Amino acid sequence: MNHDGPQPTYEIVDELSRFDERDTVFSRERLEPGSPQEQAYHSLHPELVEIDRRIATFIRQVGQPGDGITQEDAALFNATFDPIAGLALPDVVDGEVAPTQVQADPARMSARIKALARYLGADDVRIGPLNPAWVYSHRGTPPFFAGYQPNPPHYSGLPKTYRDLQWGDPIEIPHRYAIAMAFAQDLNLIRTGGTPFSDLEIGRVYAFSALVATQIATYIRSLGWPARAHHMRNYGVLVVPVAVDAGLGELGRCGYLIHPRLGANLRLVCVTTDLPLQLDPPVDLGIQDFCNKCLKCAHNCPSGAIPKGDKVVVRGVRKWQIDPVKCLLYWGHLRSACAICQSICPWSKPLTWPHRLVAQIAMHVPPARRFLIWADDVVYGARFKPAPPPAWSRQDQIQI
Ligand code: SF4
Ligand code: SF4
Repeated sequence: MNHDGPQPTYEIVDELSRFDERDTVFSRERLEPGSPQEQAYHSLHPELVEIDRRIATFIRQVGQPGDGITQEDAALFNATFDPIAGLALPDVVDGEVAPTQVQADPARMSARIKALARYLGADDVRIGPLNPAWVYSHRGTPPFFAGYQPNPPHYSGLPKTYRDLQWGDPIEIPHRYAIAMAFAQDLNLIRTGGTPFSDLEIGRVYAFSALVATQIATYIRSLGWPARAHHMRNYGVLVVPVAVDAGLGELGRCGYLIHPRLGANLRLVCVTTDLPLQLDPPVDLGIQDFCNKCLKCAHNCPSGAIPKGDKVVVRGVRKWQIDPVKCLLYWGHLRSACAICQSICPWSKPLTWPHRLVAQIAMHVPPARRFLIWADDVVYGARFKPAPPPAWSRQDQIQI
């Protein structure tokens, strides 16, 4: 790391190696059978052909009508997810830098960027170093491909202005800093658990956070410094370890960042830049010990994707590793993203003072953790129970 103070709580046990975005399940599910990309990928990974075709078949049912999902339900998914592609164009996430450069004290500039991000809607924002190991090695999911599976379903061609990397191109992001931002999801909607309403909320926060990331990146480029936004339709970096390095929280057993106030119920975006900024330290909230004792997400995961056992070493880091294939196949079965792990986590609670007090005890009084885990089961139940859909969705006629 770039600083001598506190260190992140993940454990580096070997040389870090960069992740190839082509290996993500979200890239693999877009591989059209017979396309040059699919043939290139599966000639290197013949063992994945069958499972990738299953993923592709299943995941494309998410947000689509059928099996109890009506066209009205599917429209909720499309309403929030589809427009995000417009924020993913290469000259929206990145772009022209102003010819004159504003010079400012890094501490002052950091305070200004944070205040702006909060004003625009971020629930938390911190600044860390950009570890080059967290930059994807190769492009796997650009928002548009000529003659290739685009972001379904409304964008079916290549915009004239498209200049982004193609599948398989190396990714280089030389920036020194990363501004990591967390956005809370509405817990009541997420607790509906794998329904069009949890999808609606997930898409709303993805879209809103993507907009704020592009706004912050545009602001910095207008100050004369390079900056690139990273959001769900155009990532160049792994946002979870970037956010951990910036001190937004810790990596939990469920694979999400656990934030001290928002728990796992959040979405992350970041902006990488060379604008000189003051770094925030990573944090130790006691999450590693808490997750060791808790396992609530693993016991409630319907697909068995969350490990109940020990951490494993992945590309040089010892951590809990979820099985993304199991998770995605379950989403396809539901036709919705599940998010049970995000809502069931004891850290995902409304921002009331009693919950904040309990979180403080969990962070600072390690012997209390087992009791708090037990108390969470007693008060909220050990098993996931879906919340009802929102009242507005139950109106059976539109009143003017
Ligand atoms: S989203 Fe659902 S299926 Fe996927 S890891 Fe979380 S609980 Fe398991
Ligand atoms: S549910 Fe428990 S084990 Fe899972 S991420 Fe949250 S605290 Fe960790």
